[in-house]
Amino acid sequence: MIQFLDLKVINAQYQEEITASILNVLDSGWYIKGTSVSSFETNFANYCGTKHCIGVANGLDALILIFRALIIQGKFQDGDEVIVPANTYIASILALTENKLKPILVEPDPATFNLSLEGIRSKITSKTKAVLCVHLYGQLAEDVSGFCEEHNLLLIEDAAQAHGAKNKEGKKAGSFGIAAGFSFYPGKNLGALGDAGAVTTNDKSLAELIHQLGNYGSEKKYHNSLKGLNSRLDDMQAAILDVKLKYLEKEIIKRRDAAQYYQQHIQNPKINLPQWDPEVKDHVFHLYVIRCKERDQLQQYLNDKGIQTVIHYPIPPHKQEAFLEWNQLSFPLTEKIHDEVLSLPLSPVITKEEQNQIINALNEF
Ligand SMILES: *Cc1c(COP(=O)(O)O)cnc(C)c1O
Repeated sequence: MIQFLDLKVINAQYQEEITASILNVLDSGWYIKGTSVSSFETNFANYCGTKHCIGVANGLDALILIFRALIIQGKFQDGDEVIVPANTYIASILALTENKLKPILVEPDPATFNLSLEGIRSKITSKTKAVLCVHLYGQLAEDVSGFCEEHNLLLIEDAAQAHGAKNKEGKKAGSFGIAAGFSFYPGKNLGALGDAGAVTTNDKSLAELIHQLGNYGSEKKYHNSLKGLNSRLDDMQAAILDVKLKYLEKEIIKRRDAAQYYQQHIQNPKINLPQWDPEVKDHVFHLYVIRCKERDQLQQYLNDKGIQTVIHYPIPPHKQEAFLEWNQLSFPLTEKIHDEVLSLPLSPVITKEEQNQIINALNEF
């Protein structure tokens, strides 16, 4: 079986260094808010080109904490509208509803499936306060930072799939808006060995507030000036992430090469390939997503040939049972995307032999 993503093989590449880093934390006797966390925060901020990084427990919390902090700073009121792509992962939406903000779902760009300026313009009202853009599949969404500034909208990024994605000026995901949320879920391009996440920002007071909110709202131990939550990155995960961060650029290149290989060799009129423009931005290919009208048959066919694929995602947020109040809404493009997409195996350790097997199967479908 060709696995969709073989995390064991990916992490085995760094086994010695990861083991040493874990033993270091073990030996230190300090497991929360220690030096491994601050070291990783510094390194990841540098990598993203931002002044600050705050480690948190996971990607959803990163986004929840950003909006919670902005509310405390008086930038939002209950019920304010935030524009968000309709075809995102549910976490982007939950970060808003958890904070009593109103998600305004927008159809994505039909070529990239990312939020576009056109989509934002079509949904702006006097209650719109912010845009939550998602760099889906690892491709930067259209840069709307200038537009948001002009229209007095806060721009927040969900960069959970886009560590290292950049434009031709070298500006990276996580540095376009007021703040960005990252996930280090094991399957992400920079993955921990458990749950982990981070916020990046250039705003010092926002960084301090998020740090405090994620640590019970306390600045000084047992003095709680805010109603916070417990959402901390732990030192073990931080130490592991610090090792893997060193190899992220190399892994991105391998992902990109593998994506290009698919792009050049998959030839089947029934299959639509992803679109990106390497002259404009560097896609990091968290996912290589094809589309096919007979998607479910294709997935079964590949499975029978020993090729594991995944659907990202089978049900759009507005059709989820958790959002019954939206179930009647219609987003035709978003619904079509969810009916047709299929993610092929793609990772820094995928081999040419595996890719050839997948390509042959696809071309014969
Ligand atoms: C993975 C992901 C998240 C959430 O990250 P967790 O660490 O699983 O909480 C948020 N947004 C997007 C787009 C994601 O892919």
